[in-house]
Amino acid sequence: MSEIIKTEAVVLSKLNYGDTSSIVTLYTREQGKISVIIKGARRPSSKIGLLFDPVNHLQVILYSKATRDVQLVSNADLLNHFPHIREELDKLKYAYAVLELVKKLTPDHETNDKLFRGIIRILCLLDSSNEAPIINFLKFFLFFLTETGYQLQLKSCVSCGAEIINGTNVFYSMNKGLLCANCKNSFLDAALLKPELFELLKCLMRNEIRITANSELTSAALDFLEKYLKFHAADFGSIQSLKLF
Ligand SMILES: [Zn+2]
Repeated sequence: MSEIIKTEAVVLSKLNYGDTSSIVTLYTREQGKISVIIKGARRPSSKIGLLFDPVNHLQVILYSKATRDVQLVSNADLLNHFPHIREELDKLKYAYAVLELVKKLTPDHETNDKLFRGIIRILCLLDSSNEAPIINFLKFFLFFLTETGYQLQLKSCVSCGAEIINGTNVFYSMNKGLLCANCKNSFLDAALLKPELFELLKCLMRNEIRITANSELTSAALDFLEKYLKFHAADFGSIQSLKLF
């Protein structure tokens, strides 16, 4: 028995399949991450084939069968194709990085409405806000870590519990977490977390608006979060989309 499901979806990736079809990975509101086949998607006459491009926000109707790995799409409508993201390489790069994180790190069929809304929100922000795309992406990255169970903790020393109020003399061990100056010597891999990087990460976590940071500092924040994720998620390599542009 197949079930008919109507759901919002974001297109994460698309691959050619056979002579005319496409296999598409979607992040859906109702069913989390799923794969679908769009038969005849690459035929010029296909009305829905063109809609399934990465980044697009769609309303789709699926024939879903629990016993099948790849579901069938019966219809789709475009809700948003984020035109400004497609016009600017820097926006597109971070939009693809969002899709890559979701594709690599969310399990199949696991629904998370908050994450779905967060993905739509970051795509809308990349499309229309004046804030630097990397700042919006870093905020999403921290939100995404929390939603996928890898929350970064910058409030207190993980060893003695002392509250860390400002970023002077703060250390970080990938194995252990945040450390105060008194405790850092007990952990071999503890490295100084630069005060300005600590402050930037805190501002990003608080989702402050109009964060100003130079590109060296935002790159350091991105490196730190990638390293953190790599340490905690064993098979996550690195964000390839950021290297393609
Ligand atoms: Zn301590």
